[in-house]
Amino acid sequence: MTFMANLPPTQELQQKDAAHHLHPFTDTQELNEKGARIITRAEGVYLYDSEGNRMLDGMAGLWCVNVGYGRKEIQEAAMRQMEQLPYYNTFFMTSHPPVVALSEKLASLAPPHINHVFYGNSGSESNDTVVRMVRHYWASMGKPDKKVIIARKNAYHGSTVAAASLGGMKGMHAQGGLPIPDITHIDQPYWYGEGGDMDPADFGLMRARALEEEIDRIGEDKVAAFIAEPIQGAGGVVIPPDSYWPEIQRICDERDILLIADEVICGFGRTGNWFGSDTYQIKPDLMTIAKGLSSGYLPIAGVLVSDRVAEGFIAHGGEFAHGYTYSGHPVACAAALTNLEIMEREHIVEGVRDRAAPYLAEKWAALGDHPLIGEARSKGLVAALELTPDKAARAPFAASKGTVGLICREHCFNNGLVMRHVGDTMIIAPPLVISNSEIDELVNKAAKCLDLTLADIKARDLY
Ligand code: PMP
Repeated sequence: MTFMANLPPTQELQQKDAAHHLHPFTDTQELNEKGARIITRAEGVYLYDSEGNRMLDGMAGLWCVNVGYGRKEIQEAAMRQMEQLPYYNTFFMTSHPPVVALSEKLASLAPPHINHVFYGNSGSESNDTVVRMVRHYWASMGKPDKKVIIARKNAYHGSTVAAASLGGMKGMHAQGGLPIPDITHIDQPYWYGEGGDMDPADFGLMRARALEEEIDRIGEDKVAAFIAEPIQGAGGVVIPPDSYWPEIQRICDERDILLIADEVICGFGRTGNWFGSDTYQIKPDLMTIAKGLSSGYLPIAGVLVSDRVAEGFIAHGGEFAHGYTYSGHPVACAAALTNLEIMEREHIVEGVRDRAAPYLAEKWAALGDHPLIGEARSKGLVAALELTPDKAARAPFAASKGTVGLICREHCFNNGLVMRHVGDTMIIAPPLVISNSEIDELVNKAAKCLDLTLADIKARDLY
C-alpha cells in the first residue's frame, strides 16, 4: 500500500490529466468537466480507485484481463526478460528465444491447420496486417484483382485507418473519410435488433446469405476475403443464431475467398474454447488475436495464418513489405507465454466451458424477467442485456439511443460494478477466473442497478 500512500490527491491527478491527456473514444470537454476516475490498483476481478472504492470489473479491462489482475508470475517473467534482452527486432533475419517459444505455443493451441504467426502490438494493427496480407497473398497467387474485403455493418475491428474501414461503424467512418477503397459491409446477424418477426434460425441464414449476394454483386474474382468476429463484441455482443456460421462457412468453401476470424475478443477462452472459431466450428484462413493473448499485461497481438495462406505466401510472395518495430517484442512475448502457461495449468478455458459459463448463463437469463430487459443473452463469459420500454415489442426508447444505457452504466459505476453500455445494450465480459460467488455478486449488482435505472428513468420521464 505504500504506492497508494504516495499518490497525489485525486483532484490533482484529475487536473493534470485534463491539462495534458487526450483520452481514446472520449469527448474531452465532457470528461474534463467531470474529472476522470483514477484507477490505482487491481487484484483478481476487482479494481480500486484513488478514492478507495472497490469495483467488480465486469469488462476485464477492455475484454482482455482473462487471467485476472495481480499475477506475479507474469510480472516476474517480464522482469527476467527485461534483464536478459529487453528489446531486439525480428527484421533482418534475426529471432530470439521468447518469440520462438510463443510462436510454437500458439501453433499448438490454434486449430491444426494453423501453424504460423505474424506479430503486432494491437488488435488494430493485426487487422491492418490482414488487409495487406490477404491482398499480397492473392497477388502472389497470380490474382491481383482479388482485393475487396467484405466486412459487416456495426463491426468493430480497431481504430487505425484500415481497421476502422473494416469496421462498420458509421460514426467512425464519418471522422476522417473512411472507409478506404475496396472494403464493403453487409448486414449483421443481430436478431434482437433487426430480426423482427422472423424465426432466429431463418434470420441467421438470411444474414449469412447476404455474403453470397455481396460476392455475386462484386464478382468472385474481385473478392479477397470476408472478415467477422465469431461474436461481435463492441457492436453490442451480437451472438449470431446457430444457423449463421455454418452457412458462412459453406459460402466461403464454395467461393474462392478467404475467411478471416477476428478473435481479438473471442480468442483465449472467452467463449469456452480457446478460440471463438472452435465454438462455432469454423475453419478460418486467418485469425487476428490480441487482448487475451497476454491478458493485457503487455501490448502484443498477431495474425494466425493457416497453412494454405502461409504456404502460398512463402512459396510465391517474396518479401512481405510489412512489419512493426515491436513485432514479436521479447518482453511482451515472455509475458504472453507465461499468461498462456497459466491458462493451461489452471485449466481456465475448461473452467469457463464447464463451470463459469453455465453458471453465468443461468443467473444472467433470470435478469431477462426484469421489466426493463427485452433480452438477456450470453455465450461463454460474454453477455448482454437489451434495455427496452416494451419487452414484447423489443422496442427502442423514445430518448436518443444510448441515453438510458448511459444512465444504467453510471448506476453500475456508483454501485461497484463495471458494466459497459453500447447504445441501450448493457454488456459484460469479466475475467475468465471469476468465481461463482463473484458471478453472484455481479448479477446481484446488475439487478440492483436495473432497479435504480428503472426508477431513475421513470422520474425523468424517459420510460
Ligand atoms: N478487433 C476487435 C474485435 C476488438 O474488439 C478490438 C478492440 N476492442 C480490436 C480489434 C482492436 O484492438 P486494439 O484496441 O488492441 O487495437
